[in-house]
Amino acid sequence: MDIKLTNTLGRKKEVFKPIKKGEANMYTCGLTVYNYAHIGNLRAYVFSDILKRTLQFNNYKVKHIENITDVGHLTSDADEGEDKLEKGAKREKKTVWEIAQHYTDAFMDDMKELNIIKPKNMPKATDHIKEMIQLIKKLEKNGCTYEAGGNIYYDTSKFKDYPKLAKLKMNEEAAQSRVGKDPNKKNSFDFVLWFTKHKYSSHEMEWDSPWGRGFPGWHIECSAMSSKYLGEHFDIHTGGVDHIPIHHTNEIAQSEGAFQHKWVNYWLHCGWLTIDAGKMSKSAGNFITLKTLTKKGYNPMEYRYFLLGANYNRPITFSYTALDSAKTAMKKLKAKVIEIKKAKDELDKKEYDKQLIKFTEIINNDLNTPKALALLLDVASNEKLSNKTKLELIKKYDEVLGLRLLETKEETIPKEVLKLKSERDKARTEKDFAKSDKLRDEIRNKGYEVLDEKEESVVRKIK
Ligand code: AMP
Ligand code: ZN
Repeated sequence: MDIKLTNTLGRKKEVFKPIKKGEANMYTCGLTVYNYAHIGNLRAYVFSDILKRTLQFNNYKVKHIENITDVGHLTSDADEGEDKLEKGAKREKKTVWEIAQHYTDAFMDDMKELNIIKPKNMPKATDHIKEMIQLIKKLEKNGCTYEAGGNIYYDTSKFKDYPKLAKLKMNEEAAQSRVGKDPNKKNSFDFVLWFTKHKYSSHEMEWDSPWGRGFPGWHIECSAMSSKYLGEHFDIHTGGVDHIPIHHTNEIAQSEGAFQHKWVNYWLHCGWLTIDAGKMSKSAGNFITLKTLTKKGYNPMEYRYFLLGANYNRPITFSYTALDSAKTAMKKLKAKVIEIKKAKDELDKKEYDKQLIKFTEIINNDLNTPKALALLLDVASNEKLSNKTKLELIKKYDEVLGLRLLETKEETIPKEVLKLKSERDKARTEKDFAKSDKLRDEIRNKGYEVLDEKEESVVRKIK
């Protein structure tokens, strides 16, 4: 079955056609490791995980590379400000290397907690300075660069396709709203490929280069590492929507300027996650991490479920109320799975195939996770399906959704709690809501909570 994906190049849904039959090579812009990943950053990685799982579900052999940015990303995405790693080091009175290691480790833990399949390789920018220098030399040879004020710049006037990804208006007003004033730049859209110490004399991370001792601009690392691991032409590149106008636009200019041919076929971007309609960012300091959520008693899978409730390329607003709904839905689902696992009956192959095709159609249609979740809930409570059929379907759906739905340990509910539950069920049937509420409180006092379905109810230990 075809997979349709919204390609930012062209802004429309396209059938995915791999460069090599049965294989999909994808690159994801990784985290800048100067602080913990916030839940907005993590949206970008849950999204690329769903994309990868969908490709694998469709039997593609996926090679996924995601870099670790540990140098060169300045406090503005353009060329102004301080290196974020240096800023983190000052803040915590540590070396930049210690900062990078600490936050890389924390990010790896977050990925594990969120059941994100680890990319095949997660190369660090600082381990690829040689490759970046080689690429800049190639650009120099192709006449795409110039030197000014001690830095090497990319001359965007030499790359006619520069506006193509972001549909940029290449006028002065647009340029000025995007970048600060740098008198060394010939054109406002130009960007730095290599900084020498003339500009940032206190930079701790420095390397020798043909242009003097210094450090790379941020964008060059992704062009250098993706081409090293995936070749000079590959299938898919992902990131957050904020990367379209600067980072990814500059990555294309560098790669196509160096290789002189098309670099990436499909660009996919996840929408922004906001809190209370505001922008969440590490630099603004108002960020929520996965640890913030787990400390409040949420399971990482509940956050994953919350994310899957929206289409990946739409904005999403985080709130604890929305997360609570995800928590309740997950609890009900897991309680159902426990019940389903118990029953011993037969697989209905015809129904199984039908519901599997339904799911594949949904997920292959631009990763429609909200609809996929709706189908999952529907299947889990479908009276017409045998338990074995439900179980096998849930197992299969979860290969893509990654919600660890089968990892349910049954709790032994104490007899007195079960007795209270059946008394309460009776009260509900008789519409004696005062009694039912009283019994709910009694159950709660014993450390259990009641989750109501349409006709039935489930009791769970309060975590
Ligand atoms: P950074 O560490 O700044 O390079 O960001 C890592 C990834 O997180 C990038 O793909 C960004 O586009 C993405 N990102 C950052 N903030 C958000 C947000 N609030 N919502 C969604 N994605 C985000
Ligand atoms: Zn990148």
